[in-house]
Amino acid sequence: MKCHRCNNEDESLFAMSSKGMYCRACVGFKRIIVQEDIIVEKQVPPVCDSDYLLEYSLTKYQKEISKQICDNIFDTDILLHGVTGSGKTEMILELIEKCLKEKISILIVISRRQVVLEISERLSHIFKNCKVTPICQGYTSDLDGDIIVATSHQCYRFIDKIFEIVIVDEVDAFPLKGDLVLNNIVQNCCSKHLLYLTATPDEYFLNKIKNNEIMLLKIVIRPHYHNLVVPQVVLNLKFVLYYFLYCFIKQRIKTDHLILIFVPTIKMCKKLNYLFKYFKCDYLTSKTKNKEEIIDKFKNKQINVLFATTILERGVTFTKVDVCVFMANHMVFDESSLIQIAGRVGRKIKAPTGDCLFLCDGVSDQVNKCVKSIIGANDEKMSLVSKNN
Ligand SMILES: [Zn+2]
Repeated sequence: MKCHRCNNEDESLFAMSSKGMYCRACVGFKRIIVQEDIIVEKQVPPVCDSDYLLEYSLTKYQKEISKQICDNIFDTDILLHGVTGSGKTEMILELIEKCLKEKISILIVISRRQVVLEISERLSHIFKNCKVTPICQGYTSDLDGDIIVATSHQCYRFIDKIFEIVIVDEVDAFPLKGDLVLNNIVQNCCSKHLLYLTATPDEYFLNKIKNNEIMLLKIVIRPHYHNLVVPQVVLNLKFVLYYFLYCFIKQRIKTDHLILIFVPTIKMCKKLNYLFKYFKCDYLTSKTKNKEEIIDKFKNKQINVLFATTILERGVTFTKVDVCVFMANHMVFDESSLIQIAGRVGRKIKAPTGDCLFLCDGVSDQVNKCVKSIIGANDEKMSLVSKNN
């Protein structure tokens, strides 16, 4: 017996109900009866064929990647490994345009609800006249559109491989990372090929690349051609780190940059916010009710310093920002999250540089790997640029 939604074949995870056998591995997503014949309904193909409209043009590196995606995605799965801020959304526009023109159904899967809403909004401006449908908590009544953007948790609605092309953003992050059931549910939406986007491919994908099961496309150059900011690492006793943090804030507050401080726990967030209240600060954690309001206040500079847990490591772009990670050696920060955090700095053409400081009270493999990886990407970028000049 096999669950056609999550591929579970473990007998102990099937149970009997009054209507028939169901799968317990994915029952959290609504119970389905396994023996029932599933009527495969293809997603209605797009009806609109608008060209994409951007106010700026892609770099030659981005154009090359876009072309490679369109040339190969109908023959193989692809992993697009782009450094933070390389403009991954821009590089999928040509593929979306092609799908719209050739009436190929396409689904975009994104981890966070807020980002689903933002990308949907953005795509509806880029593809004028097209219906872009976001599907996430609070937006589940309409499942039709030319372009569907959904959280991974909503993909259970689309079992039976109804989309020809599926784009999956941030495969290396929560909630997809390490969740086999959810990964299978996403893959089972797709009848042809998947395009995965990531800034930090994990073991699973590195193995797939090694075994030629997936095509790798890599971009190490941000659109503004500046290097990625390499974090400065300070290793000292914890009470000394408070002093370093104080100095960082005091020095950076003189510039027009925002100051974003990542901390490992909610408790520490509150503590630092209290300690440094003199600097006009606030904090943001998964428990914060008015997240949008606080982010807006920070962007508008009504707050100088924002303390945050890893909740802000991805998906949010601030124009001029310096970043510090307090206790970067804490176990909640792994290589991938530290790369994302450092990648918050210098994303915009208007502000391509900034400061990034990692404060540690112990040696951490993850911190070392992160720094090494960023330096490696910069080296790769330099050799590519010099080769092309
Ligand atoms: Zn299942």
